[in-house]
Amino acid sequence: MLSVAEIIAYIDDLYPQSLAEPWDNVGLQIGSPSSPCRTVITCLTVTEAAVQYAVEASADLIISHHPLVFTPLKKVTTDDPVGRVIHNLIAHRIGLFVGHTNIDRAEGGLNDWLAESLSLLDVGVLDPEAETSGYGRIGRLPTKMPLMSLAEYVAEALHIQGVRLVGRKDKLVQAVAVVSGSGSHLWTAALEQGADVLITGDVKYHTAVDILNTPLALIDAGHFGTEAIFPSRMAELLAEEARRRQWSLRVIAYEEEADPMVSV
Ligand SMILES: [Zn+2]
Repeated sequence: MLSVAEIIAYIDDLYPQSLAEPWDNVGLQIGSPSSPCRTVITCLTVTEAAVQYAVEASADLIISHHPLVFTPLKKVTTDDPVGRVIHNLIAHRIGLFVGHTNIDRAEGGLNDWLAESLSLLDVGVLDPEAETSGYGRIGRLPTKMPLMSLAEYVAEALHIQGVRLVGRKDKLVQAVAVVSGSGSHLWTAALEQGADVLITGDVKYHTAVDILNTPLALIDAGHFGTEAIFPSRMAELLAEEARRRQWSLRVIAYEEEADPMVSV
């Protein structure tokens, strides 16, 4: 029977754990590599609701983007959400595998999925310190469009309620940089590489002020908004590999997670 280890080997091959930041915590966080695996749930964040969904689906493994265990734990009790999740996963024999900054950086990872979602052309790596893998991507739209039109297009393509802008709404943009999650620190790289606009999340006020005085425009589509494609894209990838290798594996994307921050 297919084991957790075989699935991990496939993911590690695409997104080597060595690409993760030293401060990050990726890989198998709960469970045993030798456990059998028939059903996988993919999710962005290991919330209690995501775990409940996995329990109801009789899942053997959860693949998430955000680490569940990040800072060292001093206790694992049901008094706090992380402890409850760990208890629940172990009680139901569900493993947890995390792919975070390694999937952000790797070729064919989250930033490429984001660029694809926006149908960018001639996509390359944004991070100036990287070659084939690194944070962010830069590409171009098929045609020039006003920043306001791009904002509407981004909201539609990423299925989000709305975005926040820095820059003139009528500014014409075509070269687009994207960074999933919190990527506004790469705004100078976007400017240097000739981007007209950077699309990312978690933009701070002072960063917005700095960008306002440059030729670069910015679209804050939210941390969640730029990463919400993770579960579906990861599930598609794994399901396709399962077909190719004739694995008896069910892969389900948990897509009920919502942005904890809502615009009103
Ligand atoms: Zn994130």
